[in-house]
Amino acid sequence: MTFKSAYLKLTIYYVLIVLTISVVFSVVIYKMSSSEINRGLRRQMTVFRQLPHGAMVPEFDIDFEKIRADQLKVSLNHLVDQLIYFNIAILIISAFGSYFLAKKTLEPIEEMVKAQNDFTADASHELKTPLAAMKAEIEVNLRDKKLSIDQAKNMLKSNLEEIERLESLSNALLKLARFQNDVKINFQKFPVETIIIDAYEKIASLADKKNITFNNQLQNFEVTGDKQSLTELFVILLDNAIKYSPNKSEIHINIQKEKDVVSVEIIDEGIGIKASDLPHIFDRFYRADSSRSKENIAGYGLGLSIAKRIVQLHSAKIFVKSEISKGTEFIVKFPPADL
Ligand code: ADP
Repeated sequence: MTFKSAYLKLTIYYVLIVLTISVVFSVVIYKMSSSEINRGLRRQMTVFRQLPHGAMVPEFDIDFEKIRADQLKVSLNHLVDQLIYFNIAILIISAFGSYFLAKKTLEPIEEMVKAQNDFTADASHELKTPLAAMKAEIEVNLRDKKLSIDQAKNMLKSNLEEIERLESLSNALLKLARFQNDVKINFQKFPVETIIIDAYEKIASLADKKNITFNNQLQNFEVTGDKQSLTELFVILLDNAIKYSPNKSEIHINIQKEKDVVSVEIIDEGIGIKASDLPHIFDRFYRADSSRSKENIAGYGLGLSIAKRIVQLHSAKIFVKSEISKGTEFIVKFPPADL
């Protein structure tokens, strides 16, 4: 079903509801008005009949009942006409109003479906690339009648790399789906320092490989949140800081508190992000050109969209400042820690 026909269907339902209410009201108004007019006419006729002696009463016989019935008919016809015009006006106004309301109701759903379709297309594309590479390699090697053990081993090694890429992609997709589907969050109060240390331990070996040193100013300030997802958030930010930094550079982690708001800053001296890329880096599958072109920087553009979702689930905020070739700073601000 296209959204155009859904707009029309919903418009028709809205119009039918409004029109039913309007017709019911019209019938009630008709019933009440007709008995009120009838009563009024009867009172008038009684007054005519009882005119005091000597008043100007016509000499001829007057059929008061007939006059009353005629007047009632004329008044009721007039009332019916007015109610019909009223209902036509309601029909026209409600048709426009309903279309507008139907659009307003369905637009967010249409956007969601579009985002979902884009996501499926992007995910399939990312899944297809390593699969196609593996398939091509296997086919070429199978055709080679003199394939040596070494060549076969090389092929398996390269296939394993592709499988690892697929594994990390499916893990990222699963994480994204988990956080997207309003994951159960186990809120508790704890010092933010603990999750920074947990996250740091998870990425320390990557930093070591690039000889990256950390310069940390950690504090014991408390935040409220789900330890596991917040550790995930800082793993993503620290992993990126390492991935996009040159060897032997420094990363700073600062924890600060200002007016009950605890903030964590992660500052690197890496490649930086172009101003034109900044508004998009939290979108799913978005990778700045500088990251795509450098093939040694692995990734699918899913980390920051997971990070953004975790931040949202904690009613926190995430900010980014960056300068090309100078470095990038991510700041996460937590709301006051009260449970
Ligand atoms: P990826 O898997 O590509 O790292 P992310 O969603 O984590 O995906 O990040 C999206 C993009 O934002 C990256 O491709 C990169 O271009 C940019 N980016 C994120 N963090 C940094 C950083 N610390 N330094 C430079 N660029 C970054």
